[in-house]
Amino acid sequence: MPYTVPKLTDFSAAALDTAAKELVSALDLESSAVTSENDWKAYRDRWMGRKAGVLTQLNDLWLKIAPREAKREVGQNVNEIKGKVEQTVEATLARIQSGAASSRLLAERVDVTLPGIRRPIGAEHPVIKTMNEIVGVFRNLGYSVEEGPEVETDYYNFEALNFPPNHPARDTQDTLFIAGQDKKPLRDRLLLRTHTSPVQIRTMQKTKPPVRVVCPGKVHRNDAPDATHSPIFHQVEGLAVDTNITFCDLKGTLDHAMKALFGSNVKTRFYPSFFPFTEPSADVQISCIFCDGKGTRDGAPCRNCKASGWIELLGCGMVDPNVYGFVDYDPAKVSGFAFGMGVERIAILKYGVDDIQLFFNGDVRFLEQFG
Ligand SMILES: [Zn+2]
Repeated sequence: MPYTVPKLTDFSAAALDTAAKELVSALDLESSAVTSENDWKAYRDRWMGRKAGVLTQLNDLWLKIAPREAKREVGQNVNEIKGKVEQTVEATLARIQSGAASSRLLAERVDVTLPGIRRPIGAEHPVIKTMNEIVGVFRNLGYSVEEGPEVETDYYNFEALNFPPNHPARDTQDTLFIAGQDKKPLRDRLLLRTHTSPVQIRTMQKTKPPVRVVCPGKVHRNDAPDATHSPIFHQVEGLAVDTNITFCDLKGTLDHAMKALFGSNVKTRFYPSFFPFTEPSADVQISCIFCDGKGTRDGAPCRNCKASGWIELLGCGMVDPNVYGFVDYDPAKVSGFAFGMGVERIAILKYGVDDIQLFFNGDVRFLEQFG
């Protein structure tokens, strides 16, 4: 039964005292039932509400009807009760607020001894890692790095590199052309670059000799993917043009680079080859890193070099004087060399990978081994 204010009939001190005690114990009891802010508002209004609150009723049912000789005593009692009610209502609010604060603290508590959230750090892709390593070797020799567009014109990809239209050497690079360009002149037609050599032309167009530059990047060929071919792969090409650059400089540079990449025991050898933009041209072989150039391993023929002791790795040559004609260099005054290597080919050798497709499949189990 909730407390209701009795209408006083007995105004003796003893009766007042009993009535006051009853009221205060109801006040405390109801306070203890308050657990939320909404509870508390109802509680406050019930006791202190101006229209029908308990305090207002005390005025009507105790004070106003008290006989004149008891008024003073009743007035004092009601005032004391008022003070007590205000205090208790305030204390009740303080209690639920501190309760809410401490339960919020409890909910937001941070255990600093728990292990943190570990974010897995990605591994550098083996192709990019290898490409950066190759570029680093030439950077240390004073080469700068240039990049160029992957969608190129026929002019930069072929013509300026001394591949005239209908030259058979074009057939060795199965080219992916952008469709719907039949009305354009051949040299303006767009294609996916088949090598990073166009960057060499672009560099020479905007820079006077001396030039020493490496051009890393992605290239595209119309090759069906298998264990050794991919329609996308990466190259690092290099170019050095200055006065008095000779084939000796080319040999020394590449021999140093191969030793930097594969170890100082590696030997190199050069033998004649053909590229339209270099003359003379050479292929470079390194001594087999699996059998130390012996051709046999554990008494059996070495599979990696087909028992020859040598592995073919890159192409190079002295820049064909015809190329200088496309970039306004004077072939009577300057000479230079160029070289190019496949990044995947080198990564395969360095890391002992047996399928080029592993580089492109995005299998985390493979990729995370290079962290
Ligand atoms: Zn070998």
